[in-house]
Amino acid sequence: MTAAVRTTCPYCGVGCGVLASRDAAGRVHIAGDPDHPANRGRLCVKGAALGETLGNDGRLLAPRVGGREVSWDRALDLIAARFSETIAAHGPDSVALYVSGQLLTEDYYVANKLMKGFIGSANIDTNSRLCMASSVAGHRRAFGSDTVPGQYEDLEEADLVVLVGSNLAWCHPVLHQRLLAAKAARGTKIVVIDPRRTATCEGADLHLALAPGADGHLFNLLLCHLFDHGRFSAEFLPRLTGADAAVAAARTSRAEDTGLSPADLDRFLELWAGTQKVVTVYSQGINQSDTGTDKVNAILNCHLATGRIGRPGMGPFSVTGQPNAMGGREVGGLVNMLACHLELENPGHRAAVQGFWASPRMADRPGLKAVDMFRAVEEGRIKALWILHTNPAVTMPEADRVARAIAACDFVAASDIWPDTDTARLAHVLLPATGWGEKDGTVTNSERMISRQRAFLPAPGLARPDWWQLAQVAQRMGFQGFDWAGPGEIFDEYARLSAVAAEQGSDFDISGLAGAEYDTLPPVTWPHGRSTRRRFFGDGRFHTPDGRGRMIPISARLPAHATEAHPFRLNTGRIRDQWHTMTRTGLAPRLSQHLAEPYLELHPKDAQRLGLASATLAEVESPQGRAILRVLVSDRVAPGHPFAPMHWTGQTAPTGRIDALVPGLCDPVSGQPASKSAAVAIRPFPARWYGFAVAREDLTPDCDYWAKGRVAGGLQVELAGSSLPEDWSAWASALFGGTAPAMALSDPARGVHRFAFTEGGQLTGALFVSPDPVRLSRGHLADLLGRGAADALAGRPGADRPDPGPTVCACLNVGLNTILDAIHNRGILSVEALGTALGAGANCGSCRPELAALLQGQGRREAAE
Ligand code: SF4
Repeated sequence: MTAAVRTTCPYCGVGCGVLASRDAAGRVHIAGDPDHPANRGRLCVKGAALGETLGNDGRLLAPRVGGREVSWDRALDLIAARFSETIAAHGPDSVALYVSGQLLTEDYYVANKLMKGFIGSANIDTNSRLCMASSVAGHRRAFGSDTVPGQYEDLEEADLVVLVGSNLAWCHPVLHQRLLAAKAARGTKIVVIDPRRTATCEGADLHLALAPGADGHLFNLLLCHLFDHGRFSAEFLPRLTGADAAVAAARTSRAEDTGLSPADLDRFLELWAGTQKVVTVYSQGINQSDTGTDKVNAILNCHLATGRIGRPGMGPFSVTGQPNAMGGREVGGLVNMLACHLELENPGHRAAVQGFWASPRMADRPGLKAVDMFRAVEEGRIKALWILHTNPAVTMPEADRVARAIAACDFVAASDIWPDTDTARLAHVLLPATGWGEKDGTVTNSERMISRQRAFLPAPGLARPDWWQLAQVAQRMGFQGFDWAGPGEIFDEYARLSAVAAEQGSDFDISGLAGAEYDTLPPVTWPHGRSTRRRFFGDGRFHTPDGRGRMIPISARLPAHATEAHPFRLNTGRIRDQWHTMTRTGLAPRLSQHLAEPYLELHPKDAQRLGLASATLAEVESPQGRAILRVLVSDRVAPGHPFAPMHWTGQTAPTGRIDALVPGLCDPVSGQPASKSAAVAIRPFPARWYGFAVAREDLTPDCDYWAKGRVAGGLQVELAGSSLPEDWSAWASALFGGTAPAMALSDPARGVHRFAFTEGGQLTGALFVSPDPVRLSRGHLADLLGRGAADALAGRPGADRPDPGPTVCACLNVGLNTILDAIHNRGILSVEALGTALGAGANCGSCRPELAALLQGQGRREAAE
């Protein structure tokens, strides 16, 4: 075994430390870093499965132009020439970079320097716009800077933690585990505010199923309650402006706007008002709204007014979605920021950065935010676009429109590790990037902690780091100051720039890290320069011109009413075991077993009214697009407000691309899209048949609906169609590349057909067709791949081998049927006892909320087959 390399998980904003090592066979072993302050050795199931996502099959290994492999020189020269020509003909704003919270800070720094300091345009935006922009805007309005005031340990020191618009259990699992451990140790009260009853609710003392979008009203009511009960801080108020106006505006919110019972509302108001040590954690449920910035400020107003900020166990806390969303914010990755929290529109800040960079042409006005950027691409105003490590043809609102705009753009380059993402397929030039495990740099997590990401694998083929690609293009465009030997030199320059920024009054100061030993840099929280204070604003000093915090008057409003044509409001979000567009997590079979296909979670009343049963398919349509999704009937969502996860792409489920349904409606301050309230119509999909297949090799189904997921021996595919093939045997044969089935079982009268494909007596594939949703043991069939095929057409294990059912605990591979059997037939009554008996929930803990729900008789019973 090689010595373990200390690095950082590439998924969520918790920023867990990881130890990566390789055994003699080259297999990667992953463990949580016990010395990393963010996770202290813990990992969630996604982090624990990182070693299973590192294969190079299908990687982009050489630059490509027009689909043909070329040298790096040819590809880089072409990008530099096309960008230079476009700028010469149409000006700097005719080109753009669209980047990602997956980039390391050093990559971000180079991209930002190139665009803002040398090309002279601020047309560089990031997919963090879809995630955190409303928090950034809210922070800047209230604090004068985009500064997270507190630390994770505040969640452990608080007496009350309010989680609003945050499914922490699934989206930031290790932080949730830390919170639950604190609750067990000291009795922390937890309140979850969410229209959905998510997994996070299982550990909560109170779940407030708020009316969707009513968060601003709720925190306005809280502000009035705090004022009316004398809870404003006399000590802190002189350090603030706008308190009277904020209270006056808050008076327009009414209790009935929240959709909460008077008792629940009072309980929350009194709990918050009566608890000094309160942390309010918020995330995408707040940010992804056309009033997201106002919602953020409604929360901040309450913490400011009571002085509950920047002190141990107190403060508002936005948790970031991506591993380096925070690093991107710090380094100026958004169109309206300069590096080190300096402001693009401040002439003094611009001059300071320009002097430091010796730049020829500084951008002097904000560029186009993500939605506007792709509209400009569509309209031909942006003619050359470089997309790095993100997949906007899937993840942007109006994804179909964005895909068409990219396809029609004069020139598109994409840096990625895969050549066949929905976006990479549209690019003229593809640049092979290094992936996690091969990259060196830094990331910043949600609590301002900078951690090293270290390479422990060689870069495959000709793959090169993003910072190198950007610096090479900059040099080929004739720019000076891009000749770093490695990311350590970039970080050093960044740290020195932060000293300049600190002189301008910026809080982002890491000048103490300039000249530091980069290779061995331990996790460090900023500021780390003249100041090393751990929390901000508890001293009443803000970064506004007058040094006072700003309370913002919020006139809260609910989302527009649904229309007759589109009567449902679709909520979107993440699931526990997948990440973004599954380009990494989709490679780990065990991560595909928890929720294996795109689905629509629908309240029973809606399902009954629409004539939709669980496991059938629904057609979901908005003015922007259409999807076909598996129905999951559940009272965890509110009537009229279904939920669908956002991970599936053209490669994994072409009719499951949820952002094709989402409109490009944005918050006017932050430019963040409202991704959680798309107006949609829902109707049954007229399936004439349903199918399920397993296959050792990839296959491309020709039918209305399919969704693929990895299994250990290949893949599994869900299928459906609205018309029946004339000959099922021929259709099955075509699905498996023209191979004739080795075994078949057909009952045409019942519409049931089963086929098995073999090679040397071993199962290479199987197809099951039925007029109703196919009921069989999917895990059993997947396990048969590559083994003897004799019993394959039975679709189930023999009576002597119980079917474990769909996976609940992905670490220990414990299925739903096994857990239900333990609860109902073995009398197991606690999560801990399930862990002892079955191992479920005893490793990373990510499934513990689901186990708790099953113990309470809730959860996915209907999916047991
Ligand atoms: Fe990675 Fe987030 Fe899981 Fe930590 S909690 S292991 S950072 S996905």
